[in-house]
Amino acid sequence: MPKRSDRNKKTKFRKGGQEKSKRVFEKGKTKKHSCALCEGMLHGVPHSKRPAEVKKLAKTKRRPTALFAGILCTKCRSLVATEVAKVEAKVKTIDDVELRLQKYVKQVKVK
Ligand SMILES: [Zn+2]
Repeated sequence: MPKRSDRNKKTKFRKGGQEKSKRVFEKGKTKKHSCALCEGMLHGVPHSKRPAEVKKLAKTKRRPTALFAGILCTKCRSLVATEVAKVEAKVKTIDDVELRLQKYVKQVKVK
């Protein structure tokens, strides 16, 4: 008797070792990538693909070539960029920057 949770899953039958048919469950899709700060959906990143499938893609199809691409969404990225500019122009110090943005501002300053 199959498990109750397995009843609605898509199945395939494969040959086992001794000509026995073996029941195999199909793997589901993975969820969409989200922004590290606001959890919004990321653009330009492959959705519903497993890490092994993503690795087979070309490098340019894996993520855009912008600052923090594949990590932050465009809104959060521009927030970080303005904070970096303020710190570099000495309008603000690093301690005055919002705590959730500090990590990213420091990363840009190192480069
Ligand atoms: Zn965001």
